[in-house]
Amino acid sequence: METETMMKEVVVTEPHKFEVRTVPVPELANEKEVLIQMKSAGVCGSDHHIYHGLNPCSTYPRIPGHENAGIVVKAGREVTNVKVGDHVIVDLISTCGTCYQCRIGRENVCEQVKVRGSGADGGWREYFTAPSSEVYKISDSVSWADAALVEPYAIGAHSTARGRVVPEDVVFILGAGTIGSIILQTCKAKGCKMVICCDVDDSSLKRAKEYGADEVIHSKKEDVVRRVQEITGGKGVTVAFDSACFPGSLTMCMQPGILCNAGRMIPLGFSTAKEEITQAMINQRELDVIGTRMSCYQFEPTIQRMENKEFQTEGIATTFIPFAEIDRVFYLMDHPEPASKKMVILF
Ligand SMILES: [Zn+2]
Ligand SMILES: [Zn+2]
Repeated sequence: METETMMKEVVVTEPHKFEVRTVPVPELANEKEVLIQMKSAGVCGSDHHIYHGLNPCSTYPRIPGHENAGIVVKAGREVTNVKVGDHVIVDLISTCGTCYQCRIGRENVCEQVKVRGSGADGGWREYFTAPSSEVYKISDSVSWADAALVEPYAIGAHSTARGRVVPEDVVFILGAGTIGSIILQTCKAKGCKMVICCDVDDSSLKRAKEYGADEVIHSKKEDVVRRVQEITGGKGVTVAFDSACFPGSLTMCMQPGILCNAGRMIPLGFSTAKEEITQAMINQRELDVIGTRMSCYQFEPTIQRMENKEFQTEGIATTFIPFAEIDRVFYLMDHPEPASKKMVILF
């Protein structure tokens, strides 16, 4: 396949500053690499944090972008899993493969994990190279708009696996944004008895209903504990996800009356704000508090579900922006519009 020789890339040079640069299309570093022509890239909360200097894992200058989909336009001689012309999703993590965490199947928290788009350059550029072991083929029946959502759906798969979600569960999700909606869809797909979504935004709660939420709670207008007690007949929920991640949100989820005895709490954020959690809050109910970060071995199964059209992707991404108009992405990061819930860059 013919590729151009020059391309455009977007670099966040320091917090609040970005540049569009024209640079040569990269060469393969070895015969195991592929050259990818980008087709779509999701814009995620962590990209906002990188741009605003709030991501503790990010260094500058940095090309953002970890939700990457594109076409293989060049493949080294030793590449066997994909070929030129294949549509692919690019994993966001590179790992050492030998540390304790890698050996026990927890590669996403490898001692030396490198994350594309924060600790290493990501996909907000027309072309980039990657080891073929970090790319996965996706059917060209999946639209580029949906392909950009594989990574956030992989988070839904990972966090619900970490939370050991089973059909018997009664689930509480704080925050019905992108990740909350994806966890909702994932829990419903796993056959959970009931999913309760809680948010402060009416349009997000309406969307949650459309995605199958059994009950919604408006936490500004309603008493969350009382509503959870009412809905669950005084029993509480068996598992709670905090995808709202504001200071105090974890404390809110863990207050008595929400999780039942032996419940599981899955926080999804990276807020550094102090919470007010006591030992009693955990041990009176013998709760499990289960950490979760990115995803691990979930790209391939998630791609398969995406190909089988098992997700309601409609309305997850709300704003599609051509790469040539990338400044609008940064403008919207500085001036968020409530109706714009998630952006996807199309190349
Ligand atoms: Zn993301
Ligand atoms: Zn490792």
